[in-house]
Amino acid sequence: MPTSAHRRKLRILFASSEAVPFAKTGGLGDVAGSLPRALKHAGAKAAVIMPKYGTIPQEYRDRMKHVADFYVPLAWRNVYCGIEKLELQGLDFYFVDNEAYFKRDGLYGYFDDGERFAFFSKAICEAIVKVPELACDVLHCNDWQTALCPVFLRELYRGAPQCNNVKTVMTVHNIKFQGQYGDKMLSDILGLADIPAARDQLYCDKDSINFMKGGLCYADALTTVSPSYAYELQMPFYGEGLDPIFRRRSNILTGILNGIDTSIWNPKTDGMITANYSADDLANKAECKRALQEELGLRQDPTRPLVVMIGRLTNQKGLGLVRYAMDGIMRRGVQVAILGTGDADQEEAFRYFDQKYGDMMCARIAFDNALSHCMYAGGDILLMPSEFEPCGLSQMIAMRYGTLPLVRETGGLRDSVVPYNKFTGEGTGFRFSNMNADEMADTLLGACEIFWTNQELWTKLMLQAMATDFSWRRAANDYMDIYHGLHPEVIRYNKRRDR
Ligand code: ADP
Repeated sequence: MPTSAHRRKLRILFASSEAVPFAKTGGLGDVAGSLPRALKHAGAKAAVIMPKYGTIPQEYRDRMKHVADFYVPLAWRNVYCGIEKLELQGLDFYFVDNEAYFKRDGLYGYFDDGERFAFFSKAICEAIVKVPELACDVLHCNDWQTALCPVFLRELYRGAPQCNNVKTVMTVHNIKFQGQYGDKMLSDILGLADIPAARDQLYCDKDSINFMKGGLCYADALTTVSPSYAYELQMPFYGEGLDPIFRRRSNILTGILNGIDTSIWNPKTDGMITANYSADDLANKAECKRALQEELGLRQDPTRPLVVMIGRLTNQKGLGLVRYAMDGIMRRGVQVAILGTGDADQEEAFRYFDQKYGDMMCARIAFDNALSHCMYAGGDILLMPSEFEPCGLSQMIAMRYGTLPLVRETGGLRDSVVPYNKFTGEGTGFRFSNMNADEMADTLLGACEIFWTNQELWTKLMLQAMATDFSWRRAANDYMDIYHGLHPEVIRYNKRRDR
Protein backbone atom coordinates (compact mmCIF):
# COMPACT_ATOMS: atom_id res chain seq x y z
CA MET A 1 0.00 0.00 0.00
CA PRO A 2 1.53 3.40 -0.94
CA THR A 3 2.50 5.50 2.09
CA SER A 4 0.17 8.32 1.02
CA ALA A 5 -2.83 5.98 1.03
CA HIS A 6 -5.93 7.41 2.63
CA ARG A 7 -9.49 6.33 3.22
CA ARG A 8 -12.24 7.98 1.21
CA LYS A 9 -15.07 7.06 -1.13
CA LEU A 10 -14.04 6.45 -4.72
CA ARG A 11 -15.95 8.65 -7.16
CA ILE A 12 -17.36 6.58 -10.03
CA LEU A 13 -18.88 8.24 -13.09
CA PHE A 14 -20.97 5.65 -14.95
CA ALA A 15 -21.25 6.60 -18.65
CA SER A 16 -24.07 4.90 -20.51
CA SER A 17 -26.20 5.52 -23.60
CA GLU A 18 -29.28 4.30 -21.70
CA ALA A 19 -30.50 3.89 -18.14
CA VAL A 20 -33.81 2.78 -16.63
CA PRO A 21 -36.21 4.54 -16.05
CA PHE A 22 -35.20 7.22 -18.59
CA ALA A 23 -34.36 5.18 -21.69
CA LYS A 24 -33.96 1.46 -22.38
CA THR A 25 -33.56 -0.78 -25.39
CA GLY A 26 -31.81 -3.73 -23.72
CA GLY A 27 -29.85 -5.11 -20.80
CA LEU A 28 -27.50 -2.10 -20.66
CA GLY A 29 -30.42 0.10 -19.61
CA ASP A 30 -31.20 -2.23 -16.70
CA VAL A 31 -27.57 -2.36 -15.61
CA ALA A 32 -27.11 1.43 -15.70
CA GLY A 33 -30.33 1.86 -13.72
CA SER A 34 -29.36 -0.61 -10.97
CA LEU A 35 -25.59 -1.08 -10.66
CA PRO A 36 -24.64 2.52 -9.73
CA ARG A 37 -27.11 2.44 -6.85
CA ALA A 38 -25.62 -0.85 -5.66
CA LEU A 39 -22.15 0.73 -5.91
CA LYS A 40 -23.28 3.43 -3.51
CA HIS A 41 -24.35 0.76 -1.04
CA ALA A 42 -20.96 -0.89 -1.52
CA GLY A 43 -19.21 2.32 -0.44
CA ALA A 44 -18.63 4.36 -3.63
CA LYS A 45 -19.79 7.81 -4.62
CA ALA A 46 -21.52 7.02 -7.91
CA ALA A 47 -23.32 9.07 -10.57
CA VAL A 48 -24.63 8.28 -14.05
CA ILE A 49 -24.18 10.36 -17.22
CA MET A 50 -26.32 9.73 -20.32
CA PRO A 51 -27.76 11.65 -23.31
CA LYS A 52 -30.84 13.78 -22.82
CA TYR A 53 -33.05 12.02 -25.37
CA GLY A 54 -36.28 13.50 -26.68
CA THR A 55 -38.01 10.30 -25.56
CA ILE A 56 -37.29 10.72 -21.84
CA PRO A 57 -40.73 11.04 -20.19
CA GLN A 58 -41.83 14.63 -19.55
CA GLU A 59 -42.21 14.07 -15.79
CA TYR A 60 -38.43 13.55 -15.57
CA ARG A 61 -37.56 16.33 -18.02
CA ASP A 62 -39.54 18.77 -15.90
CA ARG A 63 -37.46 17.89 -12.84
CA MET A 64 -34.04 18.32 -14.48
CA LYS A 65 -31.89 21.25 -13.32
CA HIS A 66 -29.42 23.06 -15.54
CA VAL A 67 -25.90 22.61 -14.17
CA ALA A 68 -23.55 23.94 -16.86
CA ASP A 69 -23.09 24.59 -20.56
CA PHE A 70 -20.01 24.80 -22.73
CA TYR A 71 -18.79 24.02 -26.22
CA VAL A 72 -17.31 20.65 -27.16
CA PRO A 73 -14.52 20.65 -29.77
CA LEU A 74 -15.26 18.13 -32.57
CA ALA A 75 -12.33 18.37 -34.99
CA TRP A 76 -12.80 21.74 -36.73
CA ARG A 77 -16.11 22.63 -34.97
CA ASN A 78 -17.32 23.62 -31.54
CA VAL A 79 -20.68 22.10 -30.61
CA TYR A 80 -23.02 23.23 -27.84
CA CYS A 81 -23.44 20.97 -24.82
CA GLY A 82 -25.67 21.50 -21.80
CA ILE A 83 -25.39 19.43 -18.62
CA GLU A 84 -28.60 18.83 -16.68
CA LYS A 85 -29.11 16.92 -13.48
CA LEU A 86 -31.83 14.93 -11.78
CA GLU A 87 -31.71 13.11 -8.48
CA LEU A 88 -33.72 9.91 -8.44
CA GLN A 89 -33.99 7.71 -5.36
CA GLY A 90 -30.73 9.02 -3.95
CA LEU A 91 -28.70 8.70 -7.16
CA ASP A 92 -27.53 11.62 -9.33
CA PHE A 93 -28.18 11.33 -13.06
CA TYR A 94 -26.52 13.84 -15.41
CA PHE A 95 -27.82 14.41 -18.93
CA VAL A 96 -25.83 15.62 -21.92
CA ASP A 97 -28.06 18.04 -23.81
CA ASN A 98 -27.80 18.79 -27.51
CA GLU A 99 -31.15 18.81 -29.27
CA ALA A 100 -29.73 18.35 -32.77
CA TYR A 101 -28.19 15.04 -31.72
CA PHE A 102 -30.60 13.67 -29.15
CA LYS A 103 -34.06 15.20 -29.58
CA ARG A 104 -35.32 12.41 -31.85
CA ASP A 105 -37.99 9.69 -31.75
CA GLY A 106 -35.61 6.86 -30.81
CA LEU A 107 -32.22 6.14 -29.29
CA TYR A 108 -30.28 4.54 -32.14
CA GLY A 109 -30.53 3.73 -35.81
CA TYR A 110 -29.75 7.14 -37.34
CA PHE A 111 -27.34 7.88 -40.21
CA ASP A 112 -25.17 9.97 -37.89
CA ASP A 113 -25.05 7.63 -34.86
CA GLY A 114 -21.25 7.61 -35.05
CA GLU A 115 -21.12 11.40 -34.80
CA ARG A 116 -23.80 11.49 -32.08
CA PHE A 117 -21.96 9.14 -29.77
CA ALA A 118 -18.52 10.55 -30.58
CA PHE A 119 -19.98 13.85 -29.41
CA PHE A 120 -21.44 12.20 -26.31
CA SER A 121 -18.08 10.66 -25.41
CA LYS A 122 -16.18 13.90 -25.96
CA ALA A 123 -18.80 15.84 -23.99
CA ILE A 124 -18.26 13.51 -21.02
CA CYS A 125 -14.51 14.26 -21.05
CA GLU A 126 -15.14 18.01 -21.31
CA ALA A 127 -17.67 17.78 -18.49
CA ILE A 128 -15.13 16.10 -16.21
CA VAL A 129 -12.81 19.06 -16.83
CA LYS A 130 -15.39 21.82 -16.64
CA VAL A 131 -18.03 20.70 -14.13
CA PRO A 132 -16.55 20.32 -10.61
CA GLU A 133 -19.30 17.98 -9.38
CA LEU A 134 -18.44 15.53 -12.19
CA ALA A 135 -14.85 15.10 -11.01
CA CYS A 136 -14.21 11.36 -10.70
CA ASP A 137 -11.61 8.71 -9.96
CA VAL A 138 -13.02 6.12 -12.36
CA LEU A 139 -14.91 6.68 -15.59
CA HIS A 140 -16.89 3.50 -16.23
CA CYS A 141 -17.75 3.23 -19.95
CA ASN A 142 -20.25 0.83 -21.48
CA ASP A 143 -20.41 -0.56 -25.03
CA TRP A 144 -19.40 1.24 -28.22
CA GLN A 145 -21.42 4.38 -27.54
CA THR A 146 -18.99 5.48 -24.81
CA ALA A 147 -15.94 3.50 -25.97
CA LEU A 148 -14.17 6.62 -27.27
CA CYS A 149 -13.94 8.15 -23.79
CA PRO A 150 -10.78 6.22 -22.84
CA VAL A 151 -9.21 7.22 -26.18
CA PHE A 152 -10.03 10.92 -25.83
CA LEU A 153 -9.07 10.98 -22.17
CA ARG A 154 -5.64 9.51 -22.80
CA GLU A 155 -4.83 11.36 -26.03
CA LEU A 156 -6.47 14.75 -25.57
CA TYR A 157 -7.12 15.36 -21.87
CA ARG A 158 -4.10 13.98 -20.00
CA GLY A 159 -2.81 17.51 -19.51
CA ALA A 160 -5.87 18.58 -17.55
CA PRO A 161 -5.37 18.14 -13.79
CA GLN A 162 -9.00 16.94 -13.47
CA CYS A 163 -8.22 14.01 -15.82
CA ASN A 164 -4.69 12.88 -15.23
CA ASN A 165 -5.58 10.43 -12.49
CA VAL A 166 -8.92 9.28 -13.92
CA LYS A 167 -8.85 5.54 -14.66
CA THR A 168 -11.17 3.99 -17.20
CA VAL A 169 -13.17 0.76 -17.10
CA MET A 170 -14.78 -0.52 -20.30
CA THR A 171 -17.66 -2.98 -20.02
CA VAL A 172 -18.83 -5.05 -22.99
CA HIS A 173 -22.53 -5.87 -22.86
CA ASN A 174 -22.74 -7.32 -26.38
CA ILE A 175 -19.80 -7.50 -28.78
CA LYS A 176 -22.14 -7.79 -31.78
CA PHE A 177 -22.50 -4.01 -31.76
CA GLN A 178 -19.18 -2.21 -32.21
CA GLY A 179 -19.75 1.19 -33.82
CA GLN A 180 -17.86 0.82 -37.09
CA TYR A 181 -17.63 3.87 -39.39
CA GLY A 182 -15.69 5.29 -42.32
CA ASP A 183 -12.23 6.62 -41.47
CA LYS A 184 -13.14 10.15 -42.58
CA MET A 185 -14.47 10.54 -39.05
CA LEU A 186 -10.93 10.61 -37.69
CA SER A 187 -10.29 14.03 -39.19
CA ASP A 188 -13.86 15.34 -39.49
CA ILE A 189 -15.23 14.55 -36.04
CA LEU A 190 -12.85 12.83 -33.66
CA GLY A 191 -9.87 15.13 -34.23
CA LEU A 192 -7.52 12.16 -33.86
CA ALA A 193 -6.16 11.93 -37.41
CA ASP A 194 -2.79 13.39 -36.41
CA ILE A 195 -2.25 11.10 -33.43
CA PRO A 196 -0.64 7.91 -34.77
CA ALA A 197 -1.30 5.74 -31.71
CA ALA A 198 -5.01 6.55 -31.70
CA ARG A 199 -5.33 6.20 -35.44
CA ASP A 200 -3.60 2.84 -35.51
CA GLN A 201 -5.70 1.40 -32.72
CA LEU A 202 -9.01 2.67 -34.05
CA TYR A 203 -8.56 1.28 -37.55
CA CYS A 204 -10.20 -2.12 -38.06
CA ASP A 205 -9.70 -2.42 -41.82
CA LYS A 206 -8.31 -0.41 -44.72
CA ASP A 207 -10.85 2.37 -44.50
CA SER A 208 -12.96 1.87 -41.36
CA ILE A 209 -12.55 2.68 -37.72
CA ASN A 210 -14.15 0.87 -34.81
CA PHE A 211 -15.17 2.70 -31.62
CA MET A 212 -15.33 -0.48 -29.52
CA LYS A 213 -11.82 -1.45 -30.59
CA GLY A 214 -10.54 1.93 -29.43
CA GLY A 215 -12.13 1.49 -26.00
CA LEU A 216 -10.79 -2.04 -25.63
CA CYS A 217 -7.25 -0.94 -26.48
CA TYR A 218 -7.21 2.18 -24.29
CA ALA A 219 -9.20 1.30 -21.15
CA ASP A 220 -7.33 0.55 -17.93
CA ALA A 221 -9.61 -2.40 -17.14
CA LEU A 222 -12.02 -4.44 -19.25
CA THR A 223 -15.09 -6.22 -17.97
CA THR A 224 -17.99 -8.09 -19.41
CA VAL A 225 -21.25 -9.30 -17.96
CA SER A 226 -20.42 -12.92 -17.13
CA PRO A 227 -17.27 -14.96 -16.53
CA SER A 228 -18.06 -17.40 -19.36
CA TYR A 229 -18.59 -14.57 -21.86
CA ALA A 230 -15.20 -13.14 -20.81
CA TYR A 231 -13.70 -16.47 -21.83
CA GLU A 232 -15.77 -16.80 -25.01
CA LEU A 233 -14.87 -13.29 -26.23
CA GLN A 234 -11.33 -14.56 -26.68
CA MET A 235 -12.50 -17.11 -29.28
CA PRO A 236 -13.08 -16.31 -32.96
CA PHE A 237 -16.61 -17.80 -32.85
CA TYR A 238 -17.81 -15.27 -30.26
CA GLY A 239 -15.29 -12.43 -30.55
CA GLU A 240 -16.76 -10.86 -33.73
CA GLY A 241 -13.30 -10.02 -35.05
CA LEU A 242 -12.03 -8.49 -31.80
CA ASP A 243 -11.00 -11.78 -30.16
CA PRO A 244 -7.25 -11.04 -30.69
CA ILE A 245 -7.62 -7.94 -28.52
CA PHE A 246 -9.45 -9.84 -25.79
CA ARG A 247 -6.72 -12.46 -25.84
CA ARG A 248 -3.97 -9.85 -25.73
CA ARG A 249 -5.61 -8.02 -22.83
CA SER A 250 -6.98 -11.08 -21.03
CA ASN A 251 -4.95 -10.20 -17.92
CA ILE A 252 -7.17 -7.14 -17.35
CA LEU A 253 -10.44 -8.73 -18.52
CA THR A 254 -12.94 -9.80 -15.85
CA GLY A 255 -16.41 -11.30 -16.19
CA ILE A 256 -18.95 -10.16 -13.59
CA LEU A 257 -22.43 -11.61 -13.74
CA ASN A 258 -25.20 -8.98 -13.73
CA GLY A 259 -27.84 -8.96 -11.04
CA ILE A 260 -31.57 -8.34 -11.37
CA ASP A 261 -33.75 -5.86 -9.53
CA THR A 262 -35.09 -8.17 -6.86
CA SER A 263 -37.64 -5.64 -5.64
CA ILE A 264 -39.36 -5.57 -9.04
CA TRP A 265 -38.97 -9.28 -9.73
CA ASN A 266 -40.45 -10.81 -6.62
CA PRO A 267 -43.37 -13.29 -6.78
CA LYS A 268 -44.24 -12.48 -3.18
CA THR A 269 -45.04 -8.82 -3.88
CA ASP A 270 -45.45 -8.62 -7.69
CA GLY A 271 -48.68 -6.70 -8.34
CA MET A 272 -48.85 -7.78 -12.00
CA ILE A 273 -49.33 -11.51 -11.39
CA THR A 274 -52.64 -13.23 -10.65
CA ALA A 275 -51.74 -14.50 -7.19
CA ASN A 276 -48.64 -14.01 -5.05
CA TYR A 277 -46.53 -16.86 -3.79
CA SER A 278 -43.14 -17.51 -2.25
CA ALA A 279 -40.77 -20.35 -1.46
CA ASP A 280 -42.62 -20.80 1.84
CA ASP A 281 -45.98 -21.23 0.15
CA LEU A 282 -45.98 -22.24 -3.50
CA ALA A 283 -49.69 -23.04 -3.76
CA ASN A 284 -50.63 -19.92 -5.74
CA LYS A 285 -48.19 -20.67 -8.54
CA ALA A 286 -50.74 -23.20 -9.83
CA GLU A 287 -53.33 -20.40 -9.99
CA CYS A 288 -50.85 -18.25 -11.94
CA LYS A 289 -50.46 -21.11 -14.43
CA ARG A 290 -54.21 -21.58 -14.80
CA ALA A 291 -54.74 -17.84 -15.33
CA LEU A 292 -51.92 -17.71 -17.90
CA GLN A 293 -53.37 -20.66 -19.82
CA GLU A 294 -56.72 -18.89 -19.85
CA GLU A 295 -55.23 -15.55 -20.91
CA LEU A 296 -53.28 -17.16 -23.78
CA GLY A 297 -56.11 -19.41 -24.94
CA LEU A 298 -54.26 -22.57 -23.93
CA ARG A 299 -55.99 -25.69 -22.59
CA GLN A 300 -56.39 -25.24 -18.81
CA ASP A 301 -54.69 -28.44 -17.82
CA PRO A 302 -52.28 -28.47 -14.84
CA THR A 303 -50.72 -31.76 -15.98
CA ARG A 304 -49.27 -30.22 -19.17
CA PRO A 305 -45.77 -28.78 -18.70
CA LEU A 306 -46.00 -25.15 -19.84
CA VAL A 307 -42.81 -24.01 -21.59
CA VAL A 308 -42.46 -20.22 -21.90
CA MET A 309 -40.05 -18.08 -23.93
CA ILE A 310 -39.72 -14.32 -23.43
CA GLY A 311 -37.32 -12.19 -25.43
CA ARG A 312 -36.24 -10.66 -28.69
CA LEU A 313 -37.04 -12.91 -31.65
CA THR A 314 -33.62 -12.78 -33.29
CA ASN A 315 -31.07 -15.35 -34.40
CA GLN A 316 -28.99 -14.74 -31.23
CA LYS A 317 -31.70 -16.45 -29.20
CA GLY A 318 -31.38 -19.87 -30.91
CA LEU A 319 -34.89 -19.81 -32.34
CA GLY A 320 -33.87 -22.04 -35.24
CA LEU A 321 -33.58 -24.93 -32.78
CA VAL A 322 -37.05 -24.27 -31.40
CA ARG A 323 -38.57 -24.12 -34.87
CA TYR A 324 -36.91 -27.36 -35.86
CA ALA A 325 -37.95 -29.17 -32.68
CA MET A 326 -41.46 -27.75 -32.38
CA ASP A 327 -43.40 -30.58 -34.04
CA GLY A 328 -41.67 -33.21 -31.90
CA ILE A 329 -42.30 -31.26 -28.69
CA MET A 330 -45.95 -30.76 -29.57
CA ARG A 331 -46.45 -34.45 -30.27
CA ARG A 332 -45.49 -35.18 -26.66
CA GLY A 333 -48.29 -33.01 -25.28
CA VAL A 334 -46.18 -30.12 -24.00
CA GLN A 335 -47.56 -26.57 -24.13
CA VAL A 336 -45.41 -23.73 -25.51
CA ALA A 337 -46.02 -19.98 -25.12
CA ILE A 338 -43.80 -17.32 -26.70
CA LEU A 339 -43.76 -13.58 -26.03
CA GLY A 340 -41.51 -11.41 -28.15
CA THR A 341 -40.90 -9.21 -31.15
CA GLY A 342 -38.03 -9.19 -33.60
CA ASP A 343 -37.09 -10.38 -37.06
CA ALA A 344 -40.03 -10.70 -39.45
CA ASP A 345 -39.24 -14.29 -40.47
CA GLN A 346 -39.09 -15.44 -36.85
CA GLU A 347 -42.35 -13.71 -35.97
CA GLU A 348 -43.99 -15.32 -38.99
CA ALA A 349 -42.76 -18.80 -38.08
CA PHE A 350 -44.18 -18.64 -34.57
CA ARG A 351 -47.50 -17.22 -35.79
CA TYR A 352 -47.69 -20.28 -38.01
CA PHE A 353 -47.15 -22.66 -35.08
CA ASP A 354 -49.75 -20.74 -33.08
CA GLN A 355 -52.34 -21.45 -35.79
CA LYS A 356 -51.22 -25.00 -36.36
CA TYR A 357 -51.35 -26.14 -32.74
CA GLY A 358 -54.48 -24.37 -31.45
CA ASP A 359 -54.80 -24.56 -27.67
CA MET A 360 -51.35 -26.13 -27.16
CA MET A 361 -49.23 -23.29 -28.54
CA CYS A 362 -49.45 -19.52 -28.29
CA ALA A 363 -47.25 -16.86 -29.87
CA ARG A 364 -47.80 -13.29 -28.65
CA ILE A 365 -45.87 -11.06 -31.02
CA ALA A 366 -45.75 -8.01 -28.78
CA PHE A 367 -43.70 -6.19 -26.17
CA ASP A 368 -45.84 -6.55 -23.07
CA ASN A 369 -44.20 -6.08 -19.68
CA ALA A 370 -47.29 -7.07 -17.65
CA LEU A 371 -47.73 -10.28 -19.63
CA SER A 372 -44.03 -11.08 -19.20
CA HIS A 373 -44.53 -11.04 -15.41
CA CYS A 374 -47.49 -13.44 -15.75
CA MET A 375 -45.43 -15.73 -17.98
CA TYR A 376 -42.49 -15.86 -15.56
CA ALA A 377 -44.96 -16.72 -12.80
CA GLY A 378 -47.26 -19.09 -14.74
CA GLY A 379 -44.70 -21.13 -16.67
CA ASP A 380 -43.13 -24.40 -15.57
CA ILE A 381 -40.03 -24.16 -17.78
CA LEU A 382 -38.35 -21.14 -19.40
CA LEU A 383 -36.62 -22.10 -22.65
CA MET A 384 -33.52 -20.09 -23.67
CA PRO A 385 -31.38 -21.95 -26.22
CA SER A 386 -29.27 -18.89 -27.16
CA GLU A 387 -26.44 -19.11 -29.66
CA PHE A 388 -24.59 -16.61 -27.48
CA GLU A 389 -25.75 -14.80 -24.36
CA PRO A 390 -23.45 -12.24 -22.70
CA CYS A 391 -25.46 -12.45 -19.47
CA GLY A 392 -29.20 -12.86 -19.98
CA LEU A 393 -31.75 -11.67 -17.48
CA SER A 394 -34.76 -13.83 -18.32
CA GLN A 395 -33.27 -17.02 -16.88
CA MET A 396 -32.52 -15.29 -13.57
CA ILE A 397 -36.00 -13.80 -13.37
CA ALA A 398 -37.52 -17.19 -14.15
CA MET A 399 -35.59 -18.84 -11.32
CA ARG A 400 -36.82 -16.19 -8.93
CA TYR A 401 -40.37 -17.21 -9.89
CA GLY A 402 -39.69 -20.94 -9.53
CA THR A 403 -39.88 -21.47 -13.30
CA LEU A 404 -37.00 -23.77 -14.18
CA PRO A 405 -34.76 -22.49 -16.98
CA LEU A 406 -33.63 -24.80 -19.76
CA VAL A 407 -30.66 -23.15 -21.43
CA ARG A 408 -27.78 -23.72 -23.80
CA GLU A 409 -24.43 -23.71 -22.05
CA THR A 410 -23.10 -20.35 -23.13
CA GLY A 411 -22.14 -17.02 -21.52
CA GLY A 412 -24.24 -15.94 -18.58
CA LEU A 413 -26.60 -18.89 -19.02
CA ARG A 414 -23.80 -21.25 -18.08
CA ASP A 415 -22.85 -19.06 -15.12
CA SER A 416 -26.32 -18.65 -13.64
CA VAL A 417 -28.08 -21.99 -14.16
CA VAL A 418 -26.87 -25.00 -12.19
CA PRO A 419 -27.81 -28.09 -14.23
CA TYR A 420 -29.91 -30.80 -12.61
CA ASN A 421 -27.70 -33.66 -11.45
CA LYS A 422 -29.67 -36.87 -11.04
CA PHE A 423 -27.08 -38.35 -8.69
CA THR A 424 -26.82 -35.51 -6.19
CA GLY A 425 -30.20 -33.82 -6.70
CA GLU A 426 -28.41 -30.49 -7.21
CA GLY A 427 -29.70 -28.04 -9.77
CA THR A 428 -31.67 -24.89 -10.52
CA GLY A 429 -32.53 -25.79 -14.12
CA PHE A 430 -31.45 -27.83 -17.14
CA ARG A 431 -28.65 -27.34 -19.67
CA PHE A 432 -27.54 -28.69 -23.04
CA SER A 433 -24.30 -27.83 -24.81
CA ASN A 434 -24.45 -27.94 -28.62
CA MET A 435 -26.43 -25.84 -31.09
CA ASN A 436 -28.41 -28.95 -31.94
CA ALA A 437 -32.21 -29.11 -31.97
CA ASP A 438 -32.39 -32.81 -31.09
CA GLU A 439 -30.13 -32.28 -28.10
CA MET A 440 -32.33 -29.41 -26.95
CA ALA A 441 -35.53 -31.43 -27.46
CA ASP A 442 -34.08 -34.42 -25.58
CA THR A 443 -33.15 -32.21 -22.63
CA LEU A 444 -36.58 -30.60 -22.68
CA LEU A 445 -38.45 -33.88 -22.81
CA GLY A 446 -36.17 -35.22 -20.06
CA ALA A 447 -37.21 -32.26 -17.90
CA CYS A 448 -40.87 -32.88 -18.75
CA GLU A 449 -40.42 -36.49 -17.70
CA ILE A 450 -39.49 -35.30 -14.19
CA PHE A 451 -42.48 -32.94 -14.22
CA TRP A 452 -44.81 -35.84 -15.10
CA THR A 453 -43.35 -38.53 -12.87
CA ASN A 454 -41.70 -36.90 -9.86
CA GLN A 455 -43.44 -33.75 -8.61
CA GLU A 456 -41.55 -33.96 -5.34
CA LEU A 457 -38.24 -33.61 -7.14
CA TRP A 458 -39.67 -30.86 -9.34
CA THR A 459 -40.66 -28.86 -6.27
CA LYS A 460 -37.21 -29.38 -4.75
CA LEU A 461 -35.60 -27.96 -7.94
CA MET A 462 -38.02 -25.01 -7.89
CA LEU A 463 -37.05 -24.19 -4.31
CA GLN A 464 -33.35 -24.45 -5.13
CA ALA A 465 -33.85 -22.06 -8.06
CA MET A 466 -35.83 -19.59 -5.94
CA ALA A 467 -33.13 -19.60 -3.25
CA THR A 468 -30.40 -18.37 -5.62
CA ASP A 469 -29.11 -14.86 -4.87
CA PHE A 470 -29.29 -12.68 -7.99
CA SER A 471 -29.18 -9.32 -6.23
CA TRP A 472 -26.77 -6.62 -7.42
CA ARG A 473 -24.82 -6.64 -4.14
CA ARG A 474 -22.47 -9.42 -5.26
CA ALA A 475 -21.71 -7.75 -8.62
CA ALA A 476 -21.22 -4.32 -7.01
CA ASN A 477 -18.58 -5.74 -4.68
CA ASP A 478 -16.73 -7.26 -7.61
CA TYR A 479 -16.74 -3.94 -9.48
CA MET A 480 -15.48 -2.22 -6.33
CA ASP A 481 -12.53 -4.63 -6.29
CA ILE A 482 -11.67 -3.56 -9.84
CA TYR A 483 -12.00 0.18 -9.14
CA HIS A 484 -9.82 -0.10 -6.05
CA GLY A 485 -7.28 -2.17 -7.97
CA LEU A 486 -6.91 0.85 -10.26
CA HIS A 487 -6.56 3.23 -7.31
CA PRO A 488 -4.29 1.59 -4.72
CA GLU A 489 -3.71 5.01 -3.13
CA VAL A 490 -7.30 5.03 -1.86
CA ILE A 491 -8.17 2.67 0.99
CA ARG A 492 -11.54 1.04 0.59
CA TYR A 493 -14.15 3.00 2.49
CA ASN A 494 -16.62 0.32 3.29
CA LYS A 495 -15.56 -3.15 2.34
CA ARG A 496 -18.66 -5.27 2.63
CA ARG A 497 -18.25 -8.91 1.92
CA ASP A 498 -21.69 -10.00 2.98
CA ARG A 499 -22.52 -12.16 0.00
P1 ADP B 1 -31.40 -9.09 -24.19
O1 ADP B 1 -30.73 -8.02 -23.34
O2 ADP B 1 -30.48 -9.86 -25.08
O3 ADP B 1 -32.60 -8.57 -24.92
P2 ADP B 1 -32.06 -10.32 -21.63
O4 ADP B 1 -32.58 -11.67 -21.24
O5 ADP B 1 -30.76 -9.89 -21.02
O6 ADP B 1 -32.00 -10.24 -23.20
O7 ADP B 1 -33.12 -9.20 -21.21
C1 ADP B 1 -34.38 -9.12 -21.80
C2 ADP B 1 -35.32 -8.38 -20.87
O8 ADP B 1 -36.36 -7.81 -21.65
C3 ADP B 1 -35.99 -9.30 -19.87
O9 ADP B 1 -36.28 -8.55 -18.71
C4 ADP B 1 -37.30 -9.69 -20.57
O10 ADP B 1 -38.32 -10.00 -19.64
C5 ADP B 1 -37.62 -8.40 -21.31
N1 ADP B 1 -38.35 -8.64 -22.56
C6 ADP B 1 -37.83 -9.06 -23.74
N2 ADP B 1 -38.80 -9.16 -24.69
C7 ADP B 1 -39.96 -8.80 -24.09
C8 ADP B 1 -41.31 -8.68 -24.54
N3 ADP B 1 -41.66 -8.96 -25.79
N4 ADP B 1 -42.24 -8.25 -23.66
C9 ADP B 1 -41.88 -7.95 -22.38
N5 ADP B 1 -40.63 -8.04 -21.90
C10 ADP B 1 -39.66 -8.45 -22.73
